[in-house]
Amino acid sequence: MKIYEMTNEERIRLLVQTGYLTTKQAELLQSRRTISLDLANSLSENQIGSFSLPYGFATDFVVDGQDYLVPMVIEEPSVIAAASNAAKRIKNSGGFRTFPSSRVVYGQIVLENLTETDIETLEKKNSEIFECAQQAHPSLIKRGGGIVSLRFNRYDGFLEIELGIDTVDAMGANMVNSILEKTAHKISSLVSGDILCSILSNSGQGQVITAEAAIDFEQLKTKSMSGSEVAFRIVKLANFAKQSVKRAVTHNKGIMNGIDAVYLATGNDFRAQEAAAHSFAFESGQYQPFSEWRIKDGQLLGTLKMPIELGSVGGAISALPMAQLSLAIMKITNSKQLQSVVAAVGLANNLSALRALVTTGIQAGHMGLQSKSLAVSAGASGFEIEEVSKRMNQTKNYTIENAKNILMKLRGK
Ligand code: NDP
Repeated sequence: MKIYEMTNEERIRLLVQTGYLTTKQAELLQSRRTISLDLANSLSENQIGSFSLPYGFATDFVVDGQDYLVPMVIEEPSVIAAASNAAKRIKNSGGFRTFPSSRVVYGQIVLENLTETDIETLEKKNSEIFECAQQAHPSLIKRGGGIVSLRFNRYDGFLEIELGIDTVDAMGANMVNSILEKTAHKISSLVSGDILCSILSNSGQGQVITAEAAIDFEQLKTKSMSGSEVAFRIVKLANFAKQSVKRAVTHNKGIMNGIDAVYLATGNDFRAQEAAAHSFAFESGQYQPFSEWRIKDGQLLGTLKMPIELGSVGGAISALPMAQLSLAIMKITNSKQLQSVVAAVGLANNLSALRALVTTGIQAGHMGLQSKSLAVSAGASGFEIEEVSKRMNQTKNYTIENAKNILMKLRGK
């Protein structure tokens, strides 16, 4: 039986049988109590409850030779189906390859009201400042991370001291902010000027990763179009996105569909990721797509390049039982590995969207799945949901009114 045809219980049982979940983790999922009141109260303020979203997983990901099931939290129908569908086509062509870069987070100490003598003093005490920052979080050095760069950047009326920090497996925002504030304290004792602020940058410039997939034409064909025709049309549409900002934004939204869903599932900071991603897209001065597609050696080659700003420990990742469960399902052992999987998911969702757009159109698949949520909105429950959805798909009329009419007929009213 196909995974999407199973019941929730059957899927959970399958994950236990195949070693992706322990029975204890399965119990956590089935208990539907995945966050305690105490934890909710400690994570954010003015708590009155917790907010649930669907939790599922995408299948068939092979990234750098390793198989993955990828947990995703998403309320939009078709995102998980699209990720799995493209991942399978890519798996059949050899899988994803990724090329991670460094894992450096940049932080800024911004100073004002400095004299030229102050600036000279700071430049002379460069290594003292570096050492102070290095000693601000000694456990980071023990883990193989720490300060990797120190730069002085002059702005009109400001001096920025920019620290590059390898935060190893943590996303690092709190760590970096603490290091910066300790270092700023030292700096303020050296100069007559003032510290305006000390804060990490979410630019993600030190965490840009590339993911690639070469897909056999055979994997792209539809009932009415050859694989090579689909591939050439995908290339044309991806090239159009380089010229049209309006298209590039939507191209990138499709990529973020998958990426944000994995961020939510793993307790990562999706606001940080969105900020990093979109500033990167604008790096050249014109908003650009995160991926490009071309034909190479008789295959369709997709390349995604963007910052992936995340952690596999720390913050909510370590605190939320569901985030821990997601990392366990993926068998993630470090943050670089998670970055690679996330980049692959982004590229997979991108391929599915492009393939649908240049062939049947996006609505054919999307509304087929959306019809289930329309059925629920119309009041359907249990077996009625499937039946209303099926009849909506037959009529191709995806309105709430149609869903209600079908439901009334089904109930004999
Ligand atoms: P933490 O403050 O939780 O710090 C990371 C923790 O992970 C440390 O306690 C560290 O231990 C521990 N750790 C264990 N193993 C490792 C390892 N292998 N590598 C690195 N650290 C390890 O989280 P972050 O500093 O990552 O900050 C992330 C949080 O900050 C997120 O919740 C984010 O939303 C939030 N935030 C984001 C901001 C932004 O993006 N602008 C601003 C402020 C906060 P030890 O101390 O022993 O080193």
